[in-house]
Amino acid sequence: MSLDKWKSDEKLIARITRAIETGSVSHAYIIEGDNCVDKEAFALDFLKAVCCEERPGRGCDMCLSCRRIDHGNCEDLYIVRAEGAATKSVKDDAVFRLQENLKKKPAGPRNMAVICNADTMTRRAQNRLLKTLEEPNPGTVIILLSENRENLLDTIKSRCIFYRLSGGEETGGENLKEVNDLVDALIEGESFFQLKEMLSGCVKSREDAFRMLDGMERIYRNLLLNKDPRGKLLKKEDVFRGVELIEEARRDLIMNVNYNYALKNLMLKIGG
Ligand SMILES: [Zn+2]
Repeated sequence: MSLDKWKSDEKLIARITRAIETGSVSHAYIIEGDNCVDKEAFALDFLKAVCCEERPGRGCDMCLSCRRIDHGNCEDLYIVRAEGAATKSVKDDAVFRLQENLKKKPAGPRNMAVICNADTMTRRAQNRLLKTLEEPNPGTVIILLSENRENLLDTIKSRCIFYRLSGGEETGGENLKEVNDLVDALIEGESFFQLKEMLSGCVKSREDAFRMLDGMERIYRNLLLNKDPRGKLLKKEDVFRGVELIEEARRDLIMNVNYNYALKNLMLKIGG
């Protein structure tokens, strides 16, 4: 699909389209979004828009260049993913292979790379990547996908253009009632046993756990901004602490901690 389909990020898409049309595409981007947002799909749509000859700035889904990217057989595009059995991370040698690839002369106009889960890059991997970000070959575009860019070195962040994807309400809304009920129960000081029961009713997989955390974080941020009347029932510092604990639980999930354990731990800490 072309960039047109990312309707809830219309303003961002307009900026991207303008940058492509005026020839001011940067060599490095950080694209951040919640776990439920398909950031890799977005990155591919972005790169299609960069390379498309039929509809530059948007992507047409039809031309050879768009189709190659869609079908995963664009030889100028290199995708790096987190690896590892227990703890998934993007390691130094993966970035090394990426660099070797970016040295090749592209068949088309550009060399392109997508680093998925870039926020799991080891420190060594980040330092290695830094060299590429400092002196990229002309035309290179590197996209870092992340859920939490705070895990990236400042020197990396400062060399990338940052975009935050909202991903739209349609992906975040389906579990909102369950998340709301859970937050109500937390505010009302329900017992840990009760909270555990509620969790086991709606969280049956790691993906559910991520969605639950995304939903909770959204609610807690609204509590902080006084956009949610329940905020009056809580002390500001408790809400702050809640946001921190939710982020901690998300980090645990990314590090492959058992999702049941991570969420129960969160309930214990927030509730207690
Ligand atoms: Zn096209």
